[in-house]
Amino acid sequence: MHRVTCNEMRLDFSVIPVSPLFIPGDQGESRRFARAVHPGSGQVSLYIPASALKGTLRRAAEDVLEGAGLDCCTRENPCSARDVVKSARGAAEIYRALCPACRLFGSQAMRSHVILTDAFPAEAVDPAASRRNEGDETVIDLPFYGTLSLRNFERWQVGLFSLIMSRINLAEVQLGANRSAGMGCITVRYSHVSLLYPGLEPNHKQQELLRTRLHGVGQLMGSDNPYGFVYPDAADTQDLPDSAEFDMGMGVSAVTITAEATDEEPDNDPAHSLIDNILTSQALAWGSYVRAQKVPR
Ligand SMILES: [Zn+2]
Repeated sequence: MHRVTCNEMRLDFSVIPVSPLFIPGDQGESRRFARAVHPGSGQVSLYIPASALKGTLRRAAEDVLEGAGLDCCTRENPCSARDVVKSARGAAEIYRALCPACRLFGSQAMRSHVILTDAFPAEAVDPAASRRNEGDETVIDLPFYGTLSLRNFERWQVGLFSLIMSRINLAEVQLGANRSAGMGCITVRYSHVSLLYPGLEPNHKQQELLRTRLHGVGQLMGSDNPYGFVYPDAADTQDLPDSAEFDMGMGVSAVTITAEATDEEPDNDPAHSLIDNILTSQALAWGSYVRAQKVPR
């Protein structure tokens, strides 16, 4: 599946710790914050490894799936150990055999559809400067910037993603260490989103459809796709904002969505609200998916 990307949502975001955040570094230095070379300055900085953030997203997804009464594997009994997955042949059969969390975040049997970058502060921040006495190195109120890509996504996954994010923003799921002590509450803000449709050369009418509606991978692959992707997978009515712009070049069709600050609400965060609305509107697709999954086969 991953050899060909049919659609991709690329989301730039910031993570802001609203309670002290501590992400232990690897080399057994248990009280030191994770550190890496800052891509902008080349200096050593504290950072949020992609794996830590992905772990938090997955835990939130498991909460949502459990709440909806859907199948969700556990760390002790992962999908990759299930007979139906082990006996599956080929990418499409494996995808169909996985639980919804693994369909999005991957498993040992299939790569993730969620790709995250490490998140860094705007400028390198010396981890030692954030040390409190002899305790853990923690940070608070410092924004970290990263990018998340959803590749070959179905619209229900975007809806699930919006629910994941609301759980995180409500501090029901936290990041890093000492979560039971209230550490690692974060808020996530979106700053930019683009939708990529590689290899698609749409005519004028299709361009307008892509500009105004989010297209799930099933919509692009058709009704008889072997993965069982939902089809059709585009809304009946417009679900992207009027400000969306379509662009075609280098074999990729792209829809970019930019928010302008308005005079009425100059202090708000128009980009975040606009993108949040797009993601949240896909909760309808998530609801349909949940109902379909619950029907006995
Ligand atoms: Zn699973």
